[in-house]
Amino acid sequence: MAKLIDGRALARQIRQELKEDILTLRNQHNLVPGLTVILVGDDPASHVYVRNKERACSEVGIHSNVIRMNAEVTEKELLDTIEGLNNDDKVHGILVQLPLPDHINEKAVINAIKPAKDVDGFHPVNSGMLMTGQAVLEPCTPKGIIRLIEETGCIIAGKHAVVIGRSNIVGKPVAMMLLQKHATVTIAHSRTQDLATVAASADILVVAIGKPQLIDDSYIKKDAIVIDVGTTRVNGALMGDVKFDKATEKAAYITPVPGGVGPMTITMLLENTLIAARNSI
Ligand code: NAD
Repeated sequence: MAKLIDGRALARQIRQELKEDILTLRNQHNLVPGLTVILVGDDPASHVYVRNKERACSEVGIHSNVIRMNAEVTEKELLDTIEGLNNDDKVHGILVQLPLPDHINEKAVINAIKPAKDVDGFHPVNSGMLMTGQAVLEPCTPKGIIRLIEETGCIIAGKHAVVIGRSNIVGKPVAMMLLQKHATVTIAHSRTQDLATVAASADILVVAIGKPQLIDDSYIKKDAIVIDVGTTRVNGALMGDVKFDKATEKAAYITPVPGGVGPMTITMLLENTLIAARNSI
C-alpha cells in the first residue's frame, strides 16, 4: 500500500520557515516582500485562487495587493499597469492571474513583466535560465512537485522519470528540473503511442494532463512515486488524473488530490516572492 505524500503538511512546514525568514528580512533590512496580483474579469475560479493567494501572503508576512480590472480592459491598459508595477520598488513580485479574456494576448502580457519580478516563472527569460541551469525564479507548480518527490527521500539521480503532459507551466519545466537532478526523463503527451507501457517504465511518474481518472494501475510500475498534478472539478469535487484507489495498490508513494500538489504551488509562490525581494537589495 502506497504511502501518502502530504502536500498540506509539507506546505505548512515550509510556510513556517518562510515566515521566520521574512521576519529576519524585515528586521535586518526593513524590507517587507510585496506581491501584486492582477485579476482581469470575473471568472469565479480565478477569484477563489486569488483570495487563497492573499490569505497565504498575509499568513507569512508578505504584503499583497490585488488590482482588479474588468473583462473589457484593453491590452494597452493592462501593459501600462504592468509597466507601473515594474518600476515600483515596493513591488517585488507581479502575477497576472490566467486565463485572460480572448482579446488580450497572454504571451505579450507575460513578456511585459520584468523577469526579476516574474514570481510565476513564466517569462521566456526565466524559462531560458531554467533550461540553462541558471534559474532564479522557477515556476511554482514544478518547483512544488520536486519538493514533494524529495520529501519521500528518493534520490532522483539515475531514476527514470516519466512526465505526462508538455505544457509550458507544468510538463516542460518539471521535466527540465528532473533532468537537472540527473533523472533520465521521458516526456509523454496526447500523441504518445502506448502511453501505459511508457508510463509503467517510470520510477517517478508525474501526471499533468487534466483528464480525470485516466491513469489506472496499468500505467504504474510497482513501487513507483506517483505525483498527480491534475485538478478537474467533477460535480463540485476536485478530481486528479490518477485512479487513486487502484494506484495505491502498486505505487510506493502517491500524492492525493486535493492536498498534494495544490498547497505546494501557492507555497512556492510565497518562496519566489521572498527570493525576488531578497534579490532587490
Ligand atoms: P494543459 O491543458 O496545458 O496541458 C495538458 C497536457 O496533457 C498537454 O501537453 C497534452 O499533450 C497532454 N494530454 C492531454 N490529453 C492527453 C492524453 N489523453 N494522454 C496523454 N497526454 C495528454 O494543462 P496544464 O496547465 O499542464 O495542467 C494539467 C493539469 O494540472 C490540469 O488538470 C490543471 O488543472 C492541473 N494543474 C494543477 C495545478 C496545481 O497547483 N494543483 C497547477 C497547474 C495545473
